[in-house]
Amino acid sequence: MGDKYNAFQEMLQLLDRAAALLGLKQDDYITLKYPDRELKVSIPMKMDDGSVQVFEGYRVQHSGARGPYKGGIRYHENVDLDEIKALAAWMSLKSAVVNIPYGGAKGGVKVDATKLSKGELERLTRRYATLLYPIVGPHIDIPAPDINTNAEVMGWFMDTFSTLRGQLTPGVVTGKPVPIGGSLGRSDATGRGLTLITKEVLKKLGLSAESTRVAIQGAGNVGGTTAKFLHEEGFKIIALSDVSGGIFLEEGLDIPEIIDFLRAQRGRLLKDYQTPKLVRISNEELLRQNVEILIPAALENQITSKTAPHIQAKIVVEAANGPTTIRGDLILEENGIIAVPDILANSGGVIVSYFEWLQNLQSFSWEEEKVITRLENLLTKAFNEVWETAAEKGTSLRMGAYMLALDRIVTSAKMRGMSC
Ligand code: NAD
Repeated sequence: MGDKYNAFQEMLQLLDRAAALLGLKQDDYITLKYPDRELKVSIPMKMDDGSVQVFEGYRVQHSGARGPYKGGIRYHENVDLDEIKALAAWMSLKSAVVNIPYGGAKGGVKVDATKLSKGELERLTRRYATLLYPIVGPHIDIPAPDINTNAEVMGWFMDTFSTLRGQLTPGVVTGKPVPIGGSLGRSDATGRGLTLITKEVLKKLGLSAESTRVAIQGAGNVGGTTAKFLHEEGFKIIALSDVSGGIFLEEGLDIPEIIDFLRAQRGRLLKDYQTPKLVRISNEELLRQNVEILIPAALENQITSKTAPHIQAKIVVEAANGPTTIRGDLILEENGIIAVPDILANSGGVIVSYFEWLQNLQSFSWEEEKVITRLENLLTKAFNEVWETAAEKGTSLRMGAYMLALDRIVTSAKMRGMSC
Protein backbone atom coordinates (compact mmCIF):
# COMPACT_ATOMS: atom_id res chain seq x y z
CA MET A 1 0.00 0.00 0.00
CA GLY A 2 2.93 2.28 0.69
CA ASP A 3 5.14 5.01 -0.74
CA LYS A 4 8.87 4.20 -0.56
CA TYR A 5 8.81 4.56 3.14
CA ASN A 6 11.20 5.11 6.00
CA ALA A 7 9.31 6.12 9.12
CA PHE A 8 12.31 7.74 10.80
CA GLN A 9 13.19 9.86 7.75
CA GLU A 10 9.56 11.02 7.55
CA MET A 11 9.65 12.06 11.20
CA LEU A 12 12.85 14.06 10.56
CA GLN A 13 11.21 15.97 7.68
CA LEU A 14 8.25 16.91 9.85
CA LEU A 15 10.60 17.98 12.64
CA ASP A 16 12.51 20.27 10.21
CA ARG A 17 9.26 21.84 9.03
CA ALA A 18 8.05 22.49 12.56
CA ALA A 19 11.46 23.92 13.52
CA ALA A 20 11.38 26.30 10.53
CA LEU A 21 7.89 27.50 11.50
CA LEU A 22 9.12 28.11 15.06
CA GLY A 23 12.22 29.93 13.79
CA LEU A 24 14.56 27.43 15.48
CA LYS A 25 18.15 27.03 14.36
CA GLN A 26 19.49 23.57 13.49
CA ASP A 27 21.64 23.69 16.65
CA ASP A 28 18.54 24.13 18.80
CA TYR A 29 17.13 20.72 17.97
CA ILE A 30 19.78 18.68 16.16
CA THR A 31 20.03 16.26 19.12
CA LEU A 32 16.46 15.14 18.41
CA LYS A 33 17.60 13.78 15.06
CA TYR A 34 19.68 11.15 16.89
CA PRO A 35 18.12 8.85 19.51
CA ASP A 36 19.92 8.99 22.86
CA ARG A 37 20.37 5.19 22.90
CA GLU A 38 19.68 2.26 20.53
CA LEU A 39 19.89 -1.28 21.87
CA LYS A 40 19.69 -4.38 19.70
CA VAL A 41 19.30 -7.75 21.40
CA SER A 42 19.20 -11.39 20.29
CA ILE A 43 16.54 -13.36 22.09
CA PRO A 44 17.04 -17.14 22.13
CA MET A 45 13.92 -19.12 22.91
CA LYS A 46 13.10 -22.79 23.27
CA MET A 47 10.03 -23.43 21.10
CA ASP A 48 7.31 -25.88 22.13
CA ASP A 49 8.71 -28.46 19.68
CA GLY A 50 12.08 -28.44 21.49
CA SER A 51 14.01 -26.46 18.86
CA VAL A 52 15.73 -23.15 19.64
CA GLN A 53 15.04 -20.00 17.64
CA VAL A 54 16.72 -16.63 18.02
CA PHE A 55 14.59 -13.50 17.60
CA GLU A 56 15.79 -9.95 17.00
CA GLY A 57 14.68 -7.29 19.47
CA TYR A 58 15.23 -3.58 20.03
CA ARG A 59 14.77 -0.81 22.54
CA VAL A 60 15.34 2.77 21.40
CA GLN A 61 15.41 5.66 23.86
CA HIS A 62 14.90 8.81 21.83
CA SER A 63 14.90 11.88 24.09
CA GLY A 64 15.10 12.09 27.86
CA ALA A 65 14.98 15.90 27.95
CA ARG A 66 11.57 16.07 29.66
CA GLY A 67 11.63 12.96 31.87
CA PRO A 68 12.14 9.19 31.95
CA TYR A 69 11.84 7.43 28.59
CA LYS A 70 8.36 6.05 27.93
CA GLY A 71 6.92 3.92 25.15
CA GLY A 72 5.37 0.61 24.16
CA ILE A 73 6.68 -2.78 23.14
CA ARG A 74 5.59 -4.18 19.77
CA TYR A 75 5.73 -7.81 18.61
CA HIS A 76 5.41 -7.87 14.82
CA GLU A 77 7.18 -9.46 11.86
CA ASN A 78 7.84 -6.02 10.25
CA VAL A 79 9.73 -4.62 13.24
CA ASP A 80 13.10 -3.09 12.33
CA LEU A 81 15.39 -0.47 13.80
CA ASP A 82 14.13 2.46 11.69
CA GLU A 83 10.53 1.74 12.62
CA ILE A 84 11.37 1.56 16.32
CA LYS A 85 13.45 4.77 16.09
CA ALA A 86 10.49 6.62 14.53
CA LEU A 87 8.04 5.23 17.07
CA ALA A 88 10.39 6.28 19.89
CA ALA A 89 10.66 9.83 18.50
CA TRP A 90 6.88 10.07 18.14
CA MET A 91 6.63 9.12 21.83
CA SER A 92 8.91 12.05 22.79
CA LEU A 93 6.65 14.36 20.77
CA LYS A 94 3.43 12.79 22.10
CA SER A 95 4.43 13.18 25.76
CA ALA A 96 5.38 16.79 25.06
CA VAL A 97 2.19 17.64 23.17
CA VAL A 98 0.04 16.55 26.11
CA ASN A 99 2.58 18.00 28.52
CA ILE A 100 3.35 15.00 30.71
CA PRO A 101 6.88 14.68 32.13
CA TYR A 102 8.24 11.88 29.95
CA GLY A 103 10.71 11.41 27.16
CA GLY A 104 10.15 8.93 24.36
CA ALA A 105 11.14 5.30 23.76
CA LYS A 106 9.92 2.23 21.93
CA GLY A 107 10.75 -1.45 21.88
CA GLY A 108 10.00 -4.27 19.54
CA VAL A 109 10.66 -7.88 18.65
CA LYS A 110 10.64 -9.10 15.08
CA VAL A 111 8.28 -12.05 15.41
CA ASP A 112 4.89 -13.19 14.17
CA ALA A 113 3.35 -13.30 17.63
CA THR A 114 0.10 -14.74 16.31
CA LYS A 115 1.98 -18.00 15.60
CA LEU A 116 3.37 -18.34 19.14
CA SER A 117 1.71 -20.39 21.86
CA LYS A 118 1.04 -18.64 25.15
CA GLY A 119 4.02 -20.43 26.72
CA GLU A 120 6.32 -19.27 23.90
CA LEU A 121 5.03 -15.71 24.24
CA GLU A 122 5.82 -15.75 27.95
CA ARG A 123 9.35 -17.17 27.47
CA LEU A 124 10.06 -14.61 24.74
CA THR A 125 8.86 -11.76 26.96
CA ARG A 126 10.84 -12.89 30.00
CA ARG A 127 14.07 -13.22 28.01
CA TYR A 128 13.53 -9.86 26.29
CA ALA A 129 12.87 -8.24 29.69
CA THR A 130 16.10 -9.78 31.05
CA LEU A 131 18.09 -8.34 28.13
CA LEU A 132 16.51 -4.91 28.65
CA TYR A 133 16.99 -5.01 32.44
CA PRO A 134 20.10 -2.76 32.54
CA ILE A 135 18.38 0.11 30.72
CA VAL A 136 14.81 0.13 32.06
CA GLY A 137 13.33 1.03 35.45
CA PRO A 138 10.63 3.22 36.98
CA HIS A 139 12.81 6.34 36.80
CA ILE A 140 14.73 5.36 33.66
CA ASP A 141 12.53 3.85 30.96
CA ILE A 142 8.97 2.54 31.37
CA PRO A 143 7.55 0.20 28.68
CA ALA A 144 3.84 -0.35 27.92
CA PRO A 145 1.73 -2.46 25.51
CA ASP A 146 1.60 -1.92 21.74
CA ILE A 147 0.77 -4.19 18.78
CA ASN A 148 0.43 -7.85 19.88
CA THR A 149 1.33 -7.12 23.49
CA ASN A 150 -1.18 -6.66 26.30
CA ALA A 151 -1.67 -6.49 30.07
CA GLU A 152 -0.61 -10.12 30.54
CA VAL A 153 2.67 -9.52 28.68
CA MET A 154 3.28 -6.43 30.85
CA GLY A 155 2.67 -8.59 33.95
CA TRP A 156 5.40 -11.05 32.82
CA PHE A 157 7.76 -8.16 32.06
CA MET A 158 7.18 -6.61 35.48
CA ASP A 159 7.64 -9.96 37.26
CA THR A 160 10.93 -10.65 35.45
CA PHE A 161 12.28 -7.18 36.26
CA SER A 162 11.17 -7.48 39.90
CA THR A 163 12.80 -10.92 40.25
CA LEU A 164 16.11 -9.67 38.88
CA ARG A 165 15.98 -6.62 41.13
CA GLY A 166 14.88 -8.60 44.20
CA GLN A 167 12.10 -6.10 44.82
CA LEU A 168 8.52 -5.86 43.55
CA THR A 169 8.63 -2.92 41.11
CA PRO A 170 5.22 -2.29 39.55
CA GLY A 171 6.30 1.14 38.20
CA VAL A 172 8.68 -0.41 35.64
CA VAL A 173 5.85 -0.92 33.13
CA THR A 174 2.35 0.44 32.60
CA GLY A 175 -0.68 -1.26 31.12
CA LYS A 176 -0.42 -4.09 33.71
CA PRO A 177 -3.38 -6.11 34.97
CA VAL A 178 -5.23 -4.11 37.65
CA PRO A 179 -4.62 -6.59 40.56
CA ILE A 180 -0.83 -6.19 40.20
CA GLY A 181 -0.70 -2.41 39.96
CA GLY A 182 -2.47 -1.61 36.70
CA SER A 183 -4.73 1.42 36.62
CA LEU A 184 -8.48 1.29 36.26
CA GLY A 185 -9.30 2.79 32.87
CA ARG A 186 -5.91 2.00 31.25
CA SER A 187 -7.00 -0.74 28.85
CA ASP A 188 -9.70 1.54 27.40
CA ALA A 189 -7.71 4.76 27.57
CA THR A 190 -6.46 5.08 23.99
CA GLY A 191 -9.93 4.41 22.57
CA ARG A 192 -11.56 6.73 25.09
CA GLY A 193 -9.12 9.48 24.18
CA LEU A 194 -9.73 8.96 20.45
CA THR A 195 -13.47 9.22 21.03
CA LEU A 196 -13.06 12.46 22.96
CA ILE A 197 -10.85 13.94 20.24
CA THR A 198 -13.31 12.87 17.52
CA LYS A 199 -16.15 14.60 19.39
CA GLU A 200 -14.07 17.76 19.86
CA VAL A 201 -13.38 17.99 16.11
CA LEU A 202 -17.08 17.46 15.34
CA LYS A 203 -17.94 20.27 17.75
CA LYS A 204 -15.54 22.62 15.94
CA LEU A 205 -17.13 21.70 12.61
CA GLY A 206 -20.72 21.80 13.88
CA LEU A 207 -21.43 18.13 13.07
CA SER A 208 -23.37 15.66 15.23
CA ALA A 209 -22.55 12.04 16.10
CA GLU A 210 -25.88 10.75 14.76
CA SER A 211 -25.21 12.03 11.24
CA THR A 212 -21.68 10.70 11.19
CA ARG A 213 -20.54 7.48 9.52
CA VAL A 214 -17.21 5.96 10.50
CA ALA A 215 -14.77 3.44 9.01
CA ILE A 216 -12.09 1.94 11.26
CA GLN A 217 -9.02 0.04 10.05
CA GLY A 218 -7.81 -2.32 12.82
CA ALA A 219 -9.95 -4.02 15.46
CA GLY A 220 -7.39 -4.62 18.20
CA ASN A 221 -7.03 -2.87 21.51
CA VAL A 222 -7.18 0.59 19.94
CA GLY A 223 -9.51 0.06 16.95
CA GLY A 224 -11.90 -2.20 18.85
CA THR A 225 -12.17 0.06 21.90
CA THR A 226 -12.61 3.15 19.77
CA ALA A 227 -15.38 1.41 17.82
CA LYS A 228 -17.05 0.45 21.11
CA PHE A 229 -17.04 4.00 22.52
CA LEU A 230 -18.05 5.69 19.26
CA HIS A 231 -20.92 3.23 18.87
CA GLU A 232 -22.05 4.06 22.43
CA GLU A 233 -21.98 7.75 21.52
CA GLY A 234 -24.33 7.18 18.58
CA PHE A 235 -21.86 7.14 15.69
CA LYS A 236 -22.63 4.69 12.89
CA ILE A 237 -19.65 2.40 12.26
CA ILE A 238 -20.21 1.06 8.76
CA ALA A 239 -16.80 -0.56 8.11
CA LEU A 240 -14.22 -2.30 10.27
CA SER A 241 -11.17 -4.41 9.41
CA ASP A 242 -8.29 -6.42 10.81
CA VAL A 243 -5.35 -8.31 9.36
CA SER A 244 -7.78 -10.79 7.74
CA GLY A 245 -9.68 -8.09 5.78
CA GLY A 246 -12.71 -5.88 6.33
CA ILE A 247 -16.47 -5.97 6.77
CA PHE A 248 -19.08 -3.43 5.66
CA LEU A 249 -22.75 -2.95 6.51
CA GLU A 250 -24.66 0.04 5.13
CA GLU A 251 -27.02 0.36 8.11
CA GLY A 252 -24.16 0.16 10.63
CA LEU A 253 -22.31 -2.75 12.25
CA ASP A 254 -23.37 -4.30 15.55
CA ILE A 255 -20.16 -3.33 17.31
CA PRO A 256 -20.82 -4.91 20.76
CA GLU A 257 -21.59 -8.25 19.07
CA ILE A 258 -18.46 -8.02 16.91
CA ILE A 259 -16.20 -7.12 19.84
CA ASP A 260 -17.64 -10.02 21.89
CA PHE A 261 -17.02 -12.32 18.92
CA LEU A 262 -13.38 -11.21 18.52
CA ARG A 263 -12.55 -11.30 22.23
CA ALA A 264 -14.20 -14.69 22.89
CA GLN A 265 -11.10 -16.55 21.75
CA ARG A 266 -7.41 -15.66 21.28
CA GLY A 267 -6.61 -15.19 17.58
CA ARG A 268 -10.24 -14.78 16.39
CA LEU A 269 -10.49 -12.71 13.20
CA LEU A 270 -13.18 -10.73 11.37
CA LYS A 271 -13.08 -13.10 8.38
CA ASP A 272 -15.01 -15.62 10.52
CA TYR A 273 -17.70 -13.17 11.68
CA GLN A 274 -21.07 -13.64 9.94
CA THR A 275 -24.25 -11.60 9.89
CA PRO A 276 -26.96 -11.11 7.22
CA LYS A 277 -26.22 -8.58 4.44
CA LEU A 278 -22.57 -8.26 5.49
CA VAL A 279 -20.23 -7.27 2.66
CA ARG A 280 -16.56 -8.36 2.73
CA ILE A 281 -14.07 -5.65 1.71
CA SER A 282 -10.28 -5.40 1.59
CA ASN A 283 -8.24 -3.13 3.85
CA GLU A 284 -7.62 -0.85 0.90
CA GLU A 285 -11.36 -0.65 0.15
CA LEU A 286 -11.99 0.26 3.76
CA LEU A 287 -9.94 3.43 3.31
CA ARG A 288 -12.12 4.46 0.35
CA GLN A 289 -15.50 4.22 2.06
CA ASN A 290 -18.04 7.02 1.78
CA VAL A 291 -17.88 8.13 5.43
CA GLU A 292 -17.41 11.35 7.36
CA ILE A 293 -14.66 9.91 9.59
CA LEU A 294 -11.86 7.49 8.79
CA ILE A 295 -9.85 6.03 11.66
CA PRO A 296 -6.67 4.11 10.74
CA ALA A 297 -5.96 2.02 13.86
CA ALA A 298 -3.55 -0.66 12.65
CA LEU A 299 -0.13 0.03 11.20
CA GLU A 300 2.05 2.78 9.71
CA ASN A 301 2.13 3.69 6.02
CA GLN A 302 -1.54 3.19 5.11
CA ILE A 303 -2.59 6.64 3.84
CA THR A 304 -0.09 7.14 1.05
CA SER A 305 0.18 8.88 -2.35
CA LYS A 306 -1.59 5.80 -3.72
CA THR A 307 -4.49 5.51 -1.26
CA ALA A 308 -5.01 9.16 -0.20
CA PRO A 309 -6.56 10.36 -3.52
CA HIS A 310 -9.44 7.89 -3.00
CA ILE A 311 -10.27 8.90 0.55
CA GLN A 312 -13.78 10.35 0.79
CA ALA A 313 -13.83 11.05 4.54
CA LYS A 314 -13.91 14.66 5.74
CA ILE A 315 -11.82 13.88 8.80
CA VAL A 316 -9.04 11.37 9.44
CA VAL A 317 -8.40 10.66 13.11
CA GLU A 318 -5.07 8.85 13.43
CA ALA A 319 -5.34 6.09 15.99
CA ALA A 320 -2.30 4.16 14.75
CA ASN A 321 1.15 5.66 15.01
CA GLY A 322 2.34 7.01 11.66
CA PRO A 323 -0.53 5.79 9.45
CA THR A 324 -0.12 8.72 7.01
CA THR A 325 2.99 9.30 4.91
CA ILE A 326 4.16 12.83 4.11
CA ARG A 327 2.97 12.48 0.50
CA GLY A 328 -0.35 11.05 1.65
CA ASP A 329 -0.73 13.94 4.09
CA LEU A 330 -0.14 16.50 1.35
CA ILE A 331 -2.97 14.97 -0.71
CA LEU A 332 -5.32 15.04 2.28
CA GLU A 333 -4.51 18.72 2.78
CA GLU A 334 -5.04 19.53 -0.92
CA ASN A 335 -8.42 17.78 -0.77
CA GLY A 336 -9.47 19.74 2.33
CA ILE A 337 -9.51 16.67 4.58
CA ILE A 338 -8.69 17.40 8.21
CA ALA A 339 -6.12 15.00 9.69
CA VAL A 340 -5.92 14.82 13.47
CA PRO A 341 -2.33 13.67 14.06
CA ASP A 342 -1.41 10.50 15.91
CA ILE A 343 0.73 12.28 18.52
CA LEU A 344 -2.39 14.05 19.74
CA ALA A 345 -5.25 11.71 18.79
CA ASN A 346 -3.92 8.47 20.32
CA SER A 347 -2.29 10.01 23.40
CA GLY A 348 -5.00 8.78 25.80
CA GLY A 349 -2.95 5.61 26.35
CA VAL A 350 0.22 7.34 27.46
CA ILE A 351 -1.75 9.81 29.58
CA VAL A 352 -3.35 7.02 31.61
CA SER A 353 -0.01 5.19 31.64
CA TYR A 354 1.32 8.31 33.35
CA PHE A 355 -1.52 8.09 35.90
CA GLU A 356 -0.78 4.39 36.45
CA TRP A 357 2.89 5.18 37.06
CA LEU A 358 1.97 7.96 39.54
CA GLN A 359 -0.26 5.49 41.42
CA ASN A 360 2.57 2.90 41.47
CA LEU A 361 5.12 5.41 42.78
CA GLN A 362 2.69 6.31 45.60
CA SER A 363 1.50 2.70 46.23
CA PHE A 364 -2.00 4.04 45.86
CA SER A 365 -4.91 3.47 43.49
CA TRP A 366 -7.35 5.95 42.04
CA GLU A 367 -11.06 5.43 41.39
CA GLU A 368 -11.86 4.97 37.69
CA GLU A 369 -13.89 8.19 37.69
CA LYS A 370 -10.84 10.18 38.74
CA VAL A 371 -8.76 8.56 35.97
CA ILE A 372 -11.37 9.38 33.34
CA THR A 373 -11.94 12.97 34.50
CA ARG A 374 -8.22 13.71 34.56
CA LEU A 375 -7.73 12.10 31.15
CA GLU A 376 -10.53 14.21 29.68
CA ASN A 377 -9.18 17.43 31.22
CA LEU A 378 -5.63 16.87 30.01
CA LEU A 379 -6.62 15.80 26.53
CA THR A 380 -9.17 18.57 25.97
CA LYS A 381 -6.54 21.12 26.97
CA ALA A 382 -3.99 19.60 24.58
CA PHE A 383 -6.55 19.47 21.76
CA ASN A 384 -7.40 23.16 22.18
CA GLU A 385 -3.72 24.13 22.36
CA VAL A 386 -2.99 22.26 19.13
CA TRP A 387 -6.06 23.72 17.42
CA GLU A 388 -5.09 27.27 18.46
CA THR A 389 -1.41 26.85 17.50
CA ALA A 390 -2.42 25.59 14.06
CA ALA A 391 -4.93 28.43 13.62
CA GLU A 392 -2.44 31.09 14.75
CA LYS A 393 0.26 29.91 12.35
CA GLY A 394 -2.17 28.94 9.57
CA THR A 395 -0.91 25.34 9.47
CA SER A 396 -2.34 21.84 9.62
CA LEU A 397 -3.16 20.30 12.99
CA ARG A 398 -0.14 18.03 12.49
CA MET A 399 2.20 21.00 12.27
CA GLY A 400 0.39 22.60 15.21
CA ALA A 401 1.07 19.52 17.32
CA TYR A 402 4.68 19.22 16.17
CA MET A 403 5.38 22.90 16.90
CA LEU A 404 3.86 22.70 20.37
CA ALA A 405 5.82 19.55 21.21
CA LEU A 406 9.12 20.65 19.71
CA ASP A 407 8.98 23.99 21.50
CA ARG A 408 8.42 22.24 24.84
CA ILE A 409 11.26 19.75 24.33
CA VAL A 410 13.73 22.41 23.18
CA THR A 411 12.76 24.70 26.08
CA SER A 412 13.37 21.91 28.64
CA ALA A 413 16.66 20.95 27.03
CA LYS A 414 17.86 24.59 27.04
CA MET A 415 16.86 25.08 30.67
CA ARG A 416 18.85 21.99 31.58
CA GLY A 417 21.79 23.30 29.59
CA MET A 418 21.66 20.31 27.25
CA SER A 419 23.02 20.96 23.79
CA CYS A 420 19.82 20.55 21.81
P1 NAD B 1 -3.36 -4.72 18.51
O1 NAD B 1 -2.32 -5.75 18.29
O2 NAD B 1 -4.26 -4.85 19.68
O3 NAD B 1 -4.29 -4.60 17.20
C1 NAD B 1 -3.79 -4.39 15.92
C2 NAD B 1 -4.95 -4.53 14.93
O4 NAD B 1 -4.47 -4.24 13.62
C3 NAD B 1 -5.51 -5.96 14.87
O5 NAD B 1 -6.92 -5.88 14.66
C4 NAD B 1 -4.82 -6.54 13.65
O6 NAD B 1 -5.52 -7.62 13.07
C5 NAD B 1 -4.80 -5.33 12.75
N1 NAD B 1 -3.79 -5.42 11.68
C6 NAD B 1 -2.54 -5.92 11.74
N2 NAD B 1 -1.96 -5.85 10.52
C7 NAD B 1 -2.87 -5.29 9.70
C8 NAD B 1 -2.88 -4.95 8.32
N3 NAD B 1 -1.83 -5.20 7.56
N4 NAD B 1 -4.00 -4.37 7.82
C9 NAD B 1 -5.06 -4.12 8.60
N5 NAD B 1 -5.13 -4.43 9.90
C10 NAD B 1 -4.04 -5.00 10.43
O7 NAD B 1 -2.58 -3.32 18.54
P2 NAD B 1 -3.10 -1.93 19.13
O8 NAD B 1 -2.56 -1.80 20.50
O9 NAD B 1 -4.55 -1.79 18.87
O10 NAD B 1 -2.28 -0.91 18.22
C11 NAD B 1 -2.77 -0.43 16.97
C12 NAD B 1 -2.08 0.87 16.61
O11 NAD B 1 -2.30 1.84 17.64
C13 NAD B 1 -0.55 0.77 16.49
O12 NAD B 1 -0.14 1.67 15.49
C14 NAD B 1 -0.07 1.25 17.83
O13 NAD B 1 1.26 1.74 17.79
C15 NAD B 1 -1.07 2.35 18.11
N6 NAD B 1 -1.22 2.73 19.52
C16 NAD B 1 -1.50 1.81 20.49
C17 NAD B 1 -1.69 2.24 21.79
C18 NAD B 1 -2.10 1.30 22.89
O14 NAD B 1 -2.39 1.78 24.00
N7 NAD B 1 -2.17 0.00 22.66
C19 NAD B 1 -1.56 3.60 22.12
C20 NAD B 1 -1.28 4.50 21.09
C21 NAD B 1 -1.12 4.06 19.80
